[in-house]
Amino acid sequence: MNTKVIYIIFVSICFSYNTYSQPVKKFGQLHVDGVFIKGSNDEDVMLRGVSLGWHNWWPQYYNADVINWLANDWKAEVVRAAIGVDPKRAYIKCPKRALRLASQVIDAAIRNNIYVIIDWHSHSLKQEEAKSFFSLMAQKYGAYPNVIYEIYNEPVNDTWEEVKNYSIEVIKTIRQYDPDNIILVGSPHWSQDVQIAADDPITGFDNIMYTAHFYADTHKEWLRERCNYALKKGIPIFISEYGESNASGDGTINFEELEKWYNWMDTNKISGVKWMIADKKETTAALVPHASSKGGWSESELTETGRLIRILLREKAAKSGW
Ligand code: MG
Repeated sequence: MNTKVIYIIFVSICFSYNTYSQPVKKFGQLHVDGVFIKGSNDEDVMLRGVSLGWHNWWPQYYNADVINWLANDWKAEVVRAAIGVDPKRAYIKCPKRALRLASQVIDAAIRNNIYVIIDWHSHSLKQEEAKSFFSLMAQKYGAYPNVIYEIYNEPVNDTWEEVKNYSIEVIKTIRQYDPDNIILVGSPHWSQDVQIAADDPITGFDNIMYTAHFYADTHKEWLRERCNYALKKGIPIFISEYGESNASGDGTINFEELEKWYNWMDTNKISGVKWMIADKKETTAALVPHASSKGGWSESELTETGRLIRILLREKAAKSGW
């Protein structure tokens, strides 16, 4: 064999190894079975990743360079696009901008073979706008196994009855175009009342999960107990947002509680997404102020929680083979 042929064989082997060693190449189309996420070969799937900050406040990180870096250096298995709804320059006022930024993130996640949560990052009910948004998303992305829909980040003042009715309407809209991708449903009080949803779950649809959000220095054993109650009733849970400090996103890191939460997620095979990729001067922000908007972050551009999550994701990736 001449050197050119050897080179082509070498590149082909590297390419095939590399493409297999990525979450979506390995697990493909996800589905929910009982309280677990399963891959296309019915294997257990537990995803770990990071959420971007609100798109309206940190649009500079909604680009392919950042997603490439999170996929390839941080080894995130899932990223979350937090599409702001109410604030100035968010979806309601500037829908085109929101759709453009969301697509930049989703397209890059698809190219990198990682999963991506399309998060309607709202604290109040906006049913018609949500239906219109998810109708567009499901038509454009419903055929991609990468996509997970999160239809209501954190209800604050709505009852479960209101959230449930809203969710059913949005789920119906998505299911017109996408019969199978996972849909995450929020619960009252910043997605902490999962026990109320568990007593009166949504029925008649497949691949529905419920979110629970925790901030380790505020939400402790009592929230894990609510989650355990829901799991016992067969309600699948996805931690689509968590932080290491108190519920404001700031304050000290509660390492002891954080470890309890990580152990709990591992034991129950619960997926988790850390809040947030943003350069706000705040504990849960992974980046220091003015960190590059192109990824490629040095250690000094990461905060303590940024360095911690990168290590954690890379350790999990080493076990998974990506
Ligand atoms: Mg689909």
